[in-house]
Amino acid sequence: MRSLSASELLNIWEWGLNQPSWSKAIKLLASACPETSIDMLTQFSLGQRDAMLLTLREWTFGSQLVSQVTCPNCGEVLELNFDIADIRLAPLSLEPVEKYCLELADYQVSFRLPNSLDMIAIAEHKQPEIAQEILLERCILQAVCNGEYLLFQQLPSHTRDAIITQMAEADPQANVPIDISCSACNHQWQSLFDIVSFFWAEINAWGFRVLQEVHTLAAAYSWREADILAMSPRRRQLYLEMVTD
Ligand SMILES: [Zn+2]
Repeated sequence: MRSLSASELLNIWEWGLNQPSWSKAIKLLASACPETSIDMLTQFSLGQRDAMLLTLREWTFGSQLVSQVTCPNCGEVLELNFDIADIRLAPLSLEPVEKYCLELADYQVSFRLPNSLDMIAIAEHKQPEIAQEILLERCILQAVCNGEYLLFQQLPSHTRDAIITQMAEADPQANVPIDISCSACNHQWQSLFDIVSFFWAEINAWGFRVLQEVHTLAAAYSWREADILAMSPRRRQLYLEMVTD
């Protein structure tokens, strides 16, 4: 994996404006990992995918993350500051994800972890219950009870719940809880950190800002967009200060 140039990031930003979340994630990683096939990228577990995106985010905008949340109890708007190290729960591993086995009473179930292909498969299903059914059916590889093979639909609900729990434990980076405490009313709660939407919101804001900078410098110096984007952010900033002084 390598970092992305300003020009590459701007192209991804323009391409991704109306794309679904899973598609943006894969596009970012495909651009940063030209040595890895799209097929392979889509088969990484969601936790592996998110660990890669965290690293790419660190290389792009640094390790500090700043986010705003509204307290559900009193409505206070809070600023959250944290570091990528705080939410990196699993080391970056690009090895293919193994098969997992669950034994519960008379049931033996083997399953794999959800990946981007599963996100594509459930993307159109808005009802969470249906999406979860489809996800489980795709991820369960084999289910046996007392030597008899079962269909996914024949598994009792407590076994399904146990599979979901074990999936989450095996891929912690896919669901990162953040503890939040309100400074105004002391209310405490947990929120899930979604690197895809967080990183994309930053790329979106960055894209508009960089286009504005290109516009200002091109208007002042008649430089080409490609040349302005190829400059380091610092050099671009210094020229901008001279133009706007
Ligand atoms: Zn509050």
